[in-house]
Amino acid sequence: MLQLYNSLTRKKEEFKPINPPEVGLYTCGPTVYDYDHIGHAWTYTTADLLRRTLEFNDYKVRQVMNITDVGHLTSDGDTGEDKLEKGARREGKTVWEVAKYYTDIFLKHRNDLNLLKPNVICKATDHIPEMIDLIKKLEAKGATYVITDGVYFDISKFPAYGKLSGNTLEKLKAGARIEVNPEKKNPADFALWKFSPADSKREMEWDSPWGKGFPGWHIECSAMSMKYLGESFDIHSGGEDNKFPHHECEIAQTETATGKTFVNYWFHTRFLMINGQKMSKSLKNFYTLDDVIKKGFSPLAMRYLCLTAHYRTNLNFTWKSLEAAQTALNNLYDAVGRMKIKKNDSKINCAKFDRQFTEAINDDINTPKAIAIMWELMKSQYPDSAKKQSLLIMDKIFGLGLDKIKKKKITIPPEIKKLAEQREKAREEKNWALADQLREKIEKEGFAVEDTDGKTKVKNK
Ligand code: AMP
Ligand code: ZN
Repeated sequence: MLQLYNSLTRKKEEFKPINPPEVGLYTCGPTVYDYDHIGHAWTYTTADLLRRTLEFNDYKVRQVMNITDVGHLTSDGDTGEDKLEKGARREGKTVWEVAKYYTDIFLKHRNDLNLLKPNVICKATDHIPEMIDLIKKLEAKGATYVITDGVYFDISKFPAYGKLSGNTLEKLKAGARIEVNPEKKNPADFALWKFSPADSKREMEWDSPWGKGFPGWHIECSAMSMKYLGESFDIHSGGEDNKFPHHECEIAQTETATGKTFVNYWFHTRFLMINGQKMSKSLKNFYTLDDVIKKGFSPLAMRYLCLTAHYRTNLNFTWKSLEAAQTALNNLYDAVGRMKIKKNDSKINCAKFDRQFTEAINDDINTPKAIAIMWELMKSQYPDSAKKQSLLIMDKIFGLGLDKIKKKKITIPPEIKKLAEQREKAREEKNWALADQLREKIEKEGFAVEDTDGKTKVKNK
């Protein structure tokens, strides 16, 4: 039985999909105006672990991930500049070039981290008509209003606003955390469509029934998730900062439009931290996966590091912890490479460890525990073939590429080969004393000697 923590109900719940064995999973993708960093790697690796956990439980997952290539302003409210337009100006490229460049790098990093490819990867700019249709629906329900700079959603029309983040209309009013545009009815009303300013040099703008402009940030995820997963689906994932305002606004606009529950389970990953702060672009305290690779680490060491923390705790990044992850990974690869698989062992299995592993994973994806169980298994007395069977099952979640590890080939240096030949000759001549001396010499160099059919075989110790 799979238990998942649901941020909406703030408790662990038994996972029950709407239409088993199918599961719809929507993952909020990146805003592609700059390099993605290892904080993103952490969030997307944990979403990958969620997907693998569902598949481990025999669900057929349809994962949809968006690419935000328009409409995310430099503030999470509705002010500031479009991050993409700003990126283009900074780099002297077109907005489209900037989006493509950073999307390609992000997708390469996903590959490096061995993240399963979502079934659908969709760009906001390819779905403007769907967003306009959704805004029209909201307009027909009387939940929108137009002011100087755009079309806004009136959150007073959705009494359940705040159910995900706790930021209800009353609390927001009291706290006045959001900067107030005097034309807005409520401070937390958010833009569905922004008008291009009159003197605008925007590259990305589209005609709409309300005027030329571009979509607000939140509307893309509602429009695209509904297009590919239906009006109600199972799980929506993202980083903890997506909870508010992004996901709260997604819920408000989607549920107002459809009158149905939008998403049953919300999955949020806590931040990757560095020196006690969130790793982020704006704080300039970030490393990219390429920085990690340049320092000589394998990207899968980063994946291993992610496995050592639970997605609902902060992952505190230090180079020391990455070194430890790399060492553990090397040890694992080494041990797997040395495993001797005997055919007649194949009926023995490590049922105890398999069961413990499944329990850990099905308990809200407890990968730190699952990793500890894997090392217990490695230390156990089971035959290698039984261990390997279990490891390959575990690696369906871990994704460390254990199925690709070749048996270690031992290269015997030429001088050792020569000693072995001399020893064979000595044995042919029945010069046992010399043969023994040569054996000792070979062993001193760290190799083992085995005599079979009158031949001297040299092996790794
Ligand atoms: P963005 O490109 O800023 O929209 O971020 C894409 C995703 O990465 C979002 O789900 C963010 O919550 C997540 N994210 C960004 N920084 C971090 C971090 N330091 N730790 C965890 N997740 C992060
Ligand atoms: Zn989103």
